[in-house]
Amino acid sequence: MSSESGQDQKIDVMLGLKKVLSQIEGAVARRSKALPQVMPRLVAVSKIKPASLIVEAYEAGQRHFGENYVNELADKASDPVILEKCKDIKWHFIGHLQTNKINKLLSSPQLYMIQTVHSEKLADNLNKQWPKYRKNEEKLPVFVQINTSAEEAKNGIEPSETTRVVKHVLENCPNLDFKGLMTIGMYDYDVTKITNPDFLCLVKCRQEVCENLNLNINEVELSMGMSGDFEQAIELGATTVRVGSVIFGARPPKPW
Ligand SMILES: *Cc1c(COP(=O)(O)O)cnc(C)c1O
Repeated sequence: MSSESGQDQKIDVMLGLKKVLSQIEGAVARRSKALPQVMPRLVAVSKIKPASLIVEAYEAGQRHFGENYVNELADKASDPVILEKCKDIKWHFIGHLQTNKINKLLSSPQLYMIQTVHSEKLADNLNKQWPKYRKNEEKLPVFVQINTSAEEAKNGIEPSETTRVVKHVLENCPNLDFKGLMTIGMYDYDVTKITNPDFLCLVKCRQEVCENLNLNINEVELSMGMSGDFEQAIELGATTVRVGSVIFGARPPKPW
């Protein structure tokens, strides 16, 4: 059977997941003992992939899923099949969040965390809106996104602003639960040859923010690493990795 959409290629999601989980274990074993010994959380990035593959991954045991467009997350989170078959799914928002999309995102069923808080203003808005949507007085877990590669087009705060923004969240946003730092960084380092400088930068940001604000380093997470480099990210201290294509298959070439 041929297909114009390229979707006919059978993706073995369960096999992909198994492989990634065993690579994660291997990387944890190689991680420096000086780093917080947190078992990394795998966020399966399902963007542009159909609900059927999400259900497959869920049934193989995966619980955390990531999307980088609000509309897509909201649609998938409300999909009747996902609501029925994936009751304990945990959605992570990992894209650029615009003010006019906040309500749509916060009202999505099973929203678990927002990894991309990129300004004090966005933090304030989320803090203000969350009480309308939350259940049981729970705070909304957030990561602060750092632009570690200093690229104009990338979102996130400058590394030097980390302490200021984290302090703002801690002191002025009682409805948010600051959980750590996240970077997307540049995609095309050959991590077999060099250590990804974005990872080193995020590790340094955490070190500094913990010293400056007297935070426990074991409780400040690092979200870094994708399909091509999640093992190195874990070796350097990642506690959350966001992995898409090696689980769900390649996406069409587009700068996602
Ligand atoms: C798409 C995406 C990923 C996953 O990328 P893969 O290379 O497919 O693993 C991770 N993080 C963000 C923010 C993304 O947009």
